[in-house]
Amino acid sequence: MSLPLSAKVPFGGDYNPEQWPEDVWKQDYRLFDSARIDLVTLGVFDWALTQPAEDTYDFALLDRIVERASAEGRGICLATGTGAHPPWLAKAYPEVTRTDFEGRKHRFGQRHNSCPSSPVFRRLSAELARRVARRYADTPAVLAWHVGNEYGGACYCALCAAGFRNWLRHRYGTLDELNEAWYTTFWSHTFTDWDEIEPPSALTEHWRGPDHTAFPGITLDYLRFTSDAMLTNFRDEKAAIRESSPTLPVTTNFMGMYRPIDYHRWAPHLDFVSWDNYPPDDESAARMALTHDLMRGLKDGQPFWLMEQTPSCTACRDVNPLKRPGLMRLWSWQAVAHGADAVLFFQLRASRGASEKYHGAVIGHAGRADTRVFREVAELGAELERLGPVSLGARTPARVALLFDWDSWWALELSDGPSRLVRYQQVVLAYHRALWDAGVDLDVVAVTADLSRYDVVVAPALHLLKGDLPQRLEAVATRGGSVLTTYLSGRVDENDQAFLMDVPGSLGQLMGVRVDEWDARGPEVVNPVRLGDGADQVDVDARLLFELVIPQGAQVIGTYLADFYAGTPAVTRNAFGAGDGWYVAAGLDQAGVSWVVRQVLDQHDLLGPYPDVPNLESAVRVAADGSRLLFLLNHRAEPVEVTTRNGGVDLLTGDRTAAGAALRLPAYGVVVLEEDR
Ligand SMILES: [Zn+2]
Repeated sequence: MSLPLSAKVPFGGDYNPEQWPEDVWKQDYRLFDSARIDLVTLGVFDWALTQPAEDTYDFALLDRIVERASAEGRGICLATGTGAHPPWLAKAYPEVTRTDFEGRKHRFGQRHNSCPSSPVFRRLSAELARRVARRYADTPAVLAWHVGNEYGGACYCALCAAGFRNWLRHRYGTLDELNEAWYTTFWSHTFTDWDEIEPPSALTEHWRGPDHTAFPGITLDYLRFTSDAMLTNFRDEKAAIRESSPTLPVTTNFMGMYRPIDYHRWAPHLDFVSWDNYPPDDESAARMALTHDLMRGLKDGQPFWLMEQTPSCTACRDVNPLKRPGLMRLWSWQAVAHGADAVLFFQLRASRGASEKYHGAVIGHAGRADTRVFREVAELGAELERLGPVSLGARTPARVALLFDWDSWWALELSDGPSRLVRYQQVVLAYHRALWDAGVDLDVVAVTADLSRYDVVVAPALHLLKGDLPQRLEAVATRGGSVLTTYLSGRVDENDQAFLMDVPGSLGQLMGVRVDEWDARGPEVVNPVRLGDGADQVDVDARLLFELVIPQGAQVIGTYLADFYAGTPAVTRNAFGAGDGWYVAAGLDQAGVSWVVRQVLDQHDLLGPYPDVPNLESAVRVAADGSRLLFLLNHRAEPVEVTTRNGGVDLLTGDRTAAGAALRLPAYGVVVLEEDR
């Protein structure tokens, strides 16, 4: 089972007519008509509406909402409504509210507020999903099920403690195994009874906060447990839906690079991936590309839905800037370029009250169509209609893989030493930025992914090594590929215990180096690194972490220029099989990272069409019939002109472009070129 059936890219978003009288619904649908909105996501926070008391289910209003959407010819993504529990539930069963990291038992309030281990929550959330599915499974307009909402957070209550102990029994079998995995001879921690085990929180193993733990192995397991416990909640509801809806696809909206949930462990249980894109600022083009690619990589390259984005601004931040004219369109096309098969907003009509009343919406409080935001939405709707079905199901022909691993993210950031300043996402973003600047089509994949299709595998900060990954990376190089990894890789096993061998552990043979020592310094300390030689030589800055490398056969590509390790290697390349392993031992600046990455890409002739035009993004999707779509996205506030490599037709304008012709993109401009075959 995969994506919902559709004749074009679905366009629309979250819609909450239950907040409005029915005469407003009528106005809304006329506005949806003019914006070509053809899909509505309904009922995301409807629990209190559809189950006003434990023994009362009332679908009267949701029936009218669904009937109206159906009668208006819209597709429906129908939510189970369990993203926030109702007040009566918390009052009747206090166990459903969470206990936080500080040990405070919460009372009713907010949303995403349910204890994942509560038997009452599990029973009643599944029952609501069961009843929603039973009631609407035969409604032809319903295209997909939306379970919960933005799963996340954590709970440290007694029920979760019991759930954690069960999870540990399943993982380790015996206390001996657990004690060994957690290295409990340290600080007198040997457990002699399962009931002695506590969730790692501010009251137990932690100080300062969630990243400062006396036992990273325990905290790592609690993160895994929490992710799995919430996955169980999703699976409870999905199973309940399946009783009456055997074929409609089921999803939940992910949040991109979201640390608390290991989406790689979740993805097999979703029929298709969807996610909510709320970038931190206007300068996030590369970051969004990475996140889209990560979401597409969750299900082996299958396209995903962009479930939410704001048409204009968010409301949850201290300062909420407006998307400049053209940016909403550009970022929507960027999502499509990277594999989105739906473009949806939060939200279609602005809430009148509560915390999201200022969150951007397609229709504002005044209900007008003559606003800039509405006009831009309507123009995008018309463009997506013009595009038709050509991009649906199209795949990204990537020969480069970027490894992304929640275990490494967690282990690196829980670690005492070498440096709290090295953040997993920042390292990944720097290497991704270099690939993005070079215009490379890439997949962002789990460490368990099949690597046999890639010529280049980039694995930044691969701190935790598990399974047969080292052998599979060696296999990439053996057949002629390149593997690039960095400082703080190959340090610990899946229990967060150091390898009893030279750093970088079982990557050592492939990299042809051993790391003897490491030096962590504050951000103000720069150690310049000289890269390359002869005419190609360039000096760049390095910061935060400096590993002292002793080559074991690797060729030196870059050397430190300062401190007692001046003249020693900072970047190396090791011939391995028909390919090579590249090791970057220091926190190079972006120029340095890009220099190294381009060396690797050059070896495989993998630079994109416009690698030297800054902030002009290119991405390719190939449809099942072989049509090749080249997306060009100008992220600059000024126009840019390039020369086409291949001729084709711009699907947004119908204009034909010959090979070698000049192609001008306005500020924030987009071209979707169906290339000649
Ligand atoms: Zn709990």
